[in-house]
Amino acid sequence: MIHIQSLIDDAKCFATVRTLRWPEGVSCPHCASFDITRQGRDDTQPERQRYLCQSCERRFDDLTDTIFAGHHQPLRVWILCLYFMGLNLSNHQIAQELDLNKDDAQQMTRQLRQGIVRKKPSPTFTDEVECDEVYIVAGHKGKPDAVVKKGGTAGAGASRGNVAAAPSPRRSPRSSG
Ligand SMILES: [Zn+2]
Repeated sequence: MIHIQSLIDDAKCFATVRTLRWPEGVSCPHCASFDITRQGRDDTQPERQRYLCQSCERRFDDLTDTIFAGHHQPLRVWILCLYFMGLNLSNHQIAQELDLNKDDAQQMTRQLRQGIVRKKPSPTFTDEVECDEVYIVAGHKGKPDAVVKKGGTAGAGASRGNVAAAPSPRRSPRSSG
């Protein structure tokens, strides 16, 4: 009996994830910057690349904000599951091929169908508030005039036109930035 899992190369599985989630090159999951440097490999998964974002200075790795992060199944099981889905195998067949119970296989295929990147990641570092500051700075980047004008606008209520132009949607609480 041939076990497909033993034939799968972990390095290629991580490379596959990179290609799927970052088709145009690695970008920061926090601020979407492409200004990224590599920061070694994961301690327990040597093929899992770590990165540092030069823009927001936050760290992430290949699996940050994906459905694979923190999951008890190894990445190669997920990739094989994705492959079998492409072959239109049933959940039952996938479970058999990957030595999973049917509930696990069903849950994995359902998650994979929704995409490998989490739509609304539950924040692990809830105390981090730096992203707000970075976002505001980014809003003024390259537009120093806007900052100057904001403080220099004369006479409150002098003109309706100014009032209408002043508010910025920058403080949206559910910003996806
Ligand atoms: Zn960033």
